[in-house]
Amino acid sequence: MSRLLEGKNALVLGVANKWSLAYAIAEAFHREGARLFLTYQGERQKATVEELAAALQARIFGCDVTSDEDIARLGAELNAAAGCLDAVVHSIAFANREDLARPFVETSRAGFLLAHDVSAYSLVALARMAAPLMRSGGSITTLTYLGSIRVVSNYNVMGVAKASLEAAVRYLAADLGPRGIRVNAISAGPIKTASARAVPGFSTMLEVMPQRAPLRRNVDPAEVADVAVFLASELSRGVTGNVVFADAGFHILGL
Ligand code: NAD
Repeated sequence: MSRLLEGKNALVLGVANKWSLAYAIAEAFHREGARLFLTYQGERQKATVEELAAALQARIFGCDVTSDEDIARLGAELNAAAGCLDAVVHSIAFANREDLARPFVETSRAGFLLAHDVSAYSLVALARMAAPLMRSGGSITTLTYLGSIRVVSNYNVMGVAKASLEAAVRYLAADLGPRGIRVNAISAGPIKTASARAVPGFSTMLEVMPQRAPLRRNVDPAEVADVAVFLASELSRGVTGNVVFADAGFHILGL
């Protein structure tokens, strides 16, 4: 069977370590024949990402998404290295731990802005950088969570940032659709990663899934990654502006 991403150039942002959802996505893209470009957030991550990238024959570039200069430099480096892009995966989020731990009403202005800057605005800035490189159309995918549309204990400001991110997906899909660029989100169920562990009581989320989710289990990173493959591939050519749930069906539940 031919591979789903054969000959495609894909940029994956958000690999911090081997547990990152972005890493599972990069592995799946590699399996499907994509030529990969990964980013690392700062010097502290560089050696780890370099090692993970080597196994996937991926090139790496530094990019802190709060920096417009970093994003512009990434665009120039990708243009020089690849010439064009077919897929971008944005797997990035951040909020101050104290803003997750205290009631939402206590969120500081600085904490609110930081969470939205890193977790939502960065998608807009990256889409603006990537769109000119998507010369024959393309696919942009981000990662979100149910806390955007439901109140989830301790998710707080991150839930509000994810709501903004999902709205940005729809506006970007409308803006970029005429250029053949699709923009979608994957709403993943809880998976143990460094970011997830910053949410107080995260292990309770993992425990509830096997009792309540329609599939009676948690999802694993490879399942989220396969949805990312679908969204980057021609199989989803008619799909844009969507939030696709990869959460064992948990989001459909009421009481
Ligand atoms: P992770 O900690 O492995 O990944 C988060 C990434 O964001 C890291 O690579 C980190 O370096 C990057 N990042 C943070 N600030 C940045 C900045 N200023 N510039 C560049 N990069 C920055 O955790 P993860 O769980 O793989 O998270 C990836 C995405 O998946 C996030 O958007 C997260 O909200 C989402 N998500 C995770 C879960 C889960 O349960 N793990 C569920 C649903 C959605």
